[in-house]
Amino acid sequence: MIFTRETTELPTQKLKTVTKVSKWDNYECVDIKNIKYIRGFNSNNAIDMYSFELIEQPLILYNLMELYNKLPTKIFDFNQSYVNENITTNDIDLILAFCKKNGLPFWSKKITVDVFRNEEDVPNPEESIEEHTLLHGISPLSIENFFPISSFIVGLLQLHMDFLRIISANSWEEDENIYPLLSENDASKINDIRKIQAHRKTIGLHTPALCPYTTFWNDEAMTLQLNCNNLMHLSTYHLCTLQQAQDYTGGYMKVCKKCKQLFVATTPQQKFCNNPCTRQAYYSSKKRKGSDD
Ligand SMILES: [Zn+2]
Repeated sequence: MIFTRETTELPTQKLKTVTKVSKWDNYECVDIKNIKYIRGFNSNNAIDMYSFELIEQPLILYNLMELYNKLPTKIFDFNQSYVNENITTNDIDLILAFCKKNGLPFWSKKITVDVFRNEEDVPNPEESIEEHTLLHGISPLSIENFFPISSFIVGLLQLHMDFLRIISANSWEEDENIYPLLSENDASKINDIRKIQAHRKTIGLHTPALCPYTTFWNDEAMTLQLNCNNLMHLSTYHLCTLQQAQDYTGGYMKVCKKCKQLFVATTPQQKFCNNPCTRQAYYSSKKRKGSDD
């Protein structure tokens, strides 16, 4: 069964995706009351705890899926105490590398099951909707920000399961863009998911339903914006657009031949990220080394 989008659906690309991004000069792992956190911090002055960034391409989602594959399968467990006790320094280094590149995936000062919302974004029942919406855009000053590693692992596990659901529904496992993002165990998981999908006649995405999306008219930019709470929330949106648009939102996912980082290519032939690796630089350095590749 192939799940395709209806022609009446809104072309999602016309919305600008604005995401709260929490970036810091330094990242480290800290132990607070026996719970392991990643702490982002600045050595000098307090800064905005997050900024709003326009992120259109699904690279963060792909980076998260890459991170999933690098981490050992056995660490992905819904029991957060187990994750907290069993996560290794090597695993933490991989998560730190993701944060250095992209910022904190979400933030919370306590263990949570909802990483698609930051601690401060959880609506307070005593607060009116208007008040909550108004406060939504104000970033507090801070010298640091945190997230519990075990909660992140659970969120990443859920995100990855949804990613496999989309691949399964569209039979994308052989696609040259998707294939590098799959591990050996995924083939059998995809087959199992496909059976469930055929039976239920739904894709069964879980994470996009966990946290609603809000839109916002930005009068200065004259655009209708989609607000995402954090990088995890943004990734759930990109899962939806992958499924709905039935492509890789205007590009091809590639691994750069030189720096080995993911990038979005405009043509299927493009092999270099152009940021900063170029074809010319690659081949002239090869020539100097006397290689004939
Ligand atoms: Zn590159």
